[in-house]
Amino acid sequence: MIQNNFSLTDHNTFGINVKAKSYTTFSRTKELKKILSSEEVKGKQKLILGGGSNILFTKDFDGIVIKNRIKGIEVEKQNAEFVWIKANAGESWNDLVKYAIANGYGGIENLSLIPGSVGAAPMQNIGAYGVEIKDVFFELEAMHIDTTDEVRFTKKRCQFGYRDSIFKNFYKDQYVITNVTLKLTKELILNLSYGAIQTELHAMGIYRPNINDVSKAVCKIRESKLPDPKVIGNSGSFFKNPVISIEKFNALKIEFPEIASYKLSKKQVKLAAGWLIDNAGWKGKTIDNYGVHKDQALVLVNHGGANGSDIFKLSEDILADIKAKYDIVLEREVNIL
Ligand SMILES: Cc1cc2nc3c(=O)[nH]c(=O)nc-3n(C[C@H](O)[C@H](O)[C@H](O)COP(=O)(O)OP(=O)(O)OC[C@H]3O[C@@H](n4cnc5c(N)ncnc54)[C@H](O)[C@@H]3O)c2cc1C
Repeated sequence: MIQNNFSLTDHNTFGINVKAKSYTTFSRTKELKKILSSEEVKGKQKLILGGGSNILFTKDFDGIVIKNRIKGIEVEKQNAEFVWIKANAGESWNDLVKYAIANGYGGIENLSLIPGSVGAAPMQNIGAYGVEIKDVFFELEAMHIDTTDEVRFTKKRCQFGYRDSIFKNFYKDQYVITNVTLKLTKELILNLSYGAIQTELHAMGIYRPNINDVSKAVCKIRESKLPDPKVIGNSGSFFKNPVISIEKFNALKIEFPEIASYKLSKKQVKLAAGWLIDNAGWKGKTIDNYGVHKDQALVLVNHGGANGSDIFKLSEDILADIKAKYDIVLEREVNIL
């Protein structure tokens, strides 16, 4: 069923009050094929929507929003060491994490509590606390929006990068991801490279953690650091952490000795965008009913009733200021519509 003039306020975690000209949902690939092939939908601008946790709507959407509700998680195959889990794209990512932990399958516990759907996770190669989906990714299936051909994408074909994949670039707006297969481990292999996890585990009195303990520690850290979109509208990190050359980093370090950084290689350094924005004085800045979160400079927030275009303008001002202060061009992580 297609609904017209549909409010998207409850369908984006920023809580922006916009409308879609048309809106529909699908729970099976067959249904999706039918929608995409129908004369009513062909030729219209389309937005495939998951949980709306990585989108900033700056205006009403003048096309059809197609919401993914394909559910289901299954074990595709397994051996002594690994298990291949196929999850349909409309599943909640965090439910998939919980399923994996409940069954003792490791690899995504560090990605606990990331909002959104399974289908959107490979789009921007979701990552947190030293792990990215690409580390456990096996393959995905997707439907071409125009031809409705169903295509399998291996890990190599997805061209994963930092918060990036082929679906954000070369194949932007061309495919609907319908399911994702992850290769998880049955052995206890933990990634505790992110110092805060160890600290949290020790605070919990745990010195020999299992995947459930790591998940709990990650959830605790996230709950203490990140604003809950149910309480205050936001889309998580608004900007990506910039990667710069070592030469540029050395020059910046002289001017800003405290600059937060992570050495990627002999030639490249990743900077904490949050530090750059905080140091430029933006943290906690409030303009009318929107602004920068009081504790997280990377998170832009809607205090209630804000316009997406105002929040976008704020992001433009921050970009310009960061360029002027550090000669660094930040990139947005959030999809702007
Ligand atoms: C509080 C908070 C914390 C967050 N923390 C993190 C974090 O730690 N790490 C991280 O990486 N991200 C984080 N995010 C961002 C967000 O959760 C992820 O990007 C998530 O994968 C988005 O999923 P979604 O279903 O909500 O996508 P949506 O916002 O619905 O869509 C995002 C994009 O993907 C496209 N898309 C969605 N589903 C499909 C599909 N099935 N096929 C094709 N295209 C599709 C949409 O068209 C859109 O372009 C956070 C967000 C919030 C609000």
